[in-house]
Amino acid sequence: MTERRGDHLWRPYTQMKLAVAPLEAVATSGSRITLADGRALIDGIASWWTAVHGYNHPHIRDAVSNQLQRMPHVMFGGLTHAPAEKLAARLAALLPGDLNHVFFTDSGSVAVEVALKMAVQLWLNRGVSGRTRVLAFRGGYHGDTMGAMSACDPDEGMHRRFGAYLPSQVFCDLPRTAAPEAALDAAMAAHRHELAAVIVEPLVQGAGGMLMHPPEVLATIARLSRRHGLPLIADEIFTGFGRTGSLFACEQAGVVPDIVCLSKALTGGTMALAATVATSEIFSQFWSDDPAHALMHGPTFMANPLACAAANASLDLFEAEPRLAQAEAIGARLDEGLAPLRKKPGIADVRVLGAIGVVQFAGTPDLAVLKQKFVERGVWVRPFGDIVYLTPALTIPEGDLDRLIAAVCDIAAAPEGR
Ligand SMILES: *Cc1c(COP(=O)(O)O)cnc(C)c1O
Repeated sequence: MTERRGDHLWRPYTQMKLAVAPLEAVATSGSRITLADGRALIDGIASWWTAVHGYNHPHIRDAVSNQLQRMPHVMFGGLTHAPAEKLAARLAALLPGDLNHVFFTDSGSVAVEVALKMAVQLWLNRGVSGRTRVLAFRGGYHGDTMGAMSACDPDEGMHRRFGAYLPSQVFCDLPRTAAPEAALDAAMAAHRHELAAVIVEPLVQGAGGMLMHPPEVLATIARLSRRHGLPLIADEIFTGFGRTGSLFACEQAGVVPDIVCLSKALTGGTMALAATVATSEIFSQFWSDDPAHALMHGPTFMANPLACAAANASLDLFEAEPRLAQAEAIGARLDEGLAPLRKKPGIADVRVLGAIGVVQFAGTPDLAVLKQKFVERGVWVRPFGDIVYLTPALTIPEGDLDRLIAAVCDIAAAPEGR
């Protein structure tokens, strides 16, 4: 059944005329999504990588409902509140180095916009003009708003359609194995007077195709950025909060970026919240007697207390429960379980990092057919492009994880319509 013209909802990345009707979810719990028709699906992707502790975790639910009784929201201009103060201090303590200054927003894309604006404005504050572009990497994804979109992969992203509308950025290939510095070094040198910053998704480019690079490559990018005096923005919106096996992906490379973007799992998948976190050095460029040197941003729902309460509760769980060990255990099981696919015809690659398992097809499968087959197997995964991937809740029970792996193995080995 396709959606009808009279439906009121306009859905994400969806050709409304051709799309099959979405499934109706009525409840979630742990790793399960219950549908209106009574079926339960095992969620293999934790609602776009957000629900790290599983759905409806009682600790987060209680924190949000307590906050709801007291103060669901209050403006952040001229006022402050304990949930935001506490969360900012905790994030600063958890992040490496002196990433100490936290600017809250309400979505990942906006966190990236703020990071880009911060980078551009810090040059203006220094009295340097013309530094308005960023160096970004092919294969990257940074969000759907204008600045974020302009830093996404120039071919797969939305450049082809929106090119004329977007700011023009400098794109480089992201080395996948060793880290040949020359090309990157040359690009930074060639554009040195117009670049404001470098932006990268550390270790895994998520929505661009779950493309991975080793920590040494990230370390090289950080070293070159420093050498050229360019702030490094680490977009940890996908990788943050344990997904790659460490709390933040940058830690694996020993890299302290100048600016970090966080969102997705920040509230444990409960509420919309994002943060752009800067080092003391970046913050000091805005610290001035000149009001015009203030960071020029301020969303209406900035630091929403409900969302901050959810995020604080999520951090409690990271402290109290062994999430990183769970990510490692999931990774080991994904590695072992998906390995047989490596030998199957039609499979180009199988890769695992932390609690991310990716199967890449040699050709482009019929995604609609694939999605349908997964639902029939009782699992919820969202293949895109030429991949199908698993990024389950870090708390997923072993039995559920095994069912996800078995479904991916069976269906990827024989995806009709490929
Ligand atoms: C999802 C994502 C974004 C955008 O976040 P939204 O909350 O969807 O705006 C940006 N960068 C990365 C790496 C992401 O995975």
